[in-house]
Amino acid sequence: MACVFCKIINKEISTDIIFENDNVVAFNDINPIAPVHVLVIPKRHIGSVIDIENEDVNLMGELIFVAKKIADNLNISQKGYKLLLRVGKDGGQEIQHIHLHLIGGKKLD
Ligand code: AMP
Repeated sequence: MACVFCKIINKEISTDIIFENDNVVAFNDINPIAPVHVLVIPKRHIGSVIDIENEDVNLMGELIFVAKKIADNLNISQKGYKLLLRVGKDGGQEIQHIHLHLIGGKKLD
């Protein structure tokens, strides 16, 4: 499969994985825009929020919960952070595999 994030999940591309369980992988963004910039992705390939089905509702909640736990572990929760999902072309989504951005460690716009 050509999807770069599937290749990260399958360890065909090495990256800085900071969390993994049966459903979810989290790794540092290759081009961070803040001191903390982590991507939290489902292991199952879902292209975009546009493609979410009823069966994906728990998985999407798990992405948020994992992001929250990582933020806690990185000690940025007290000051706050941003969770971002870009959706489709107008939303600026570049990689067609759902990814939740966890961005923090500085004051954000
Ligand atoms: P988006 O614009 O929301 O689709 O975000 C895609 C993000 O993926 C960008 O922030 C990229 O820097 C990041 N990215 C692309 N390739 C990799 C990679 N191999 N490892 C880590 N992050 C990546």
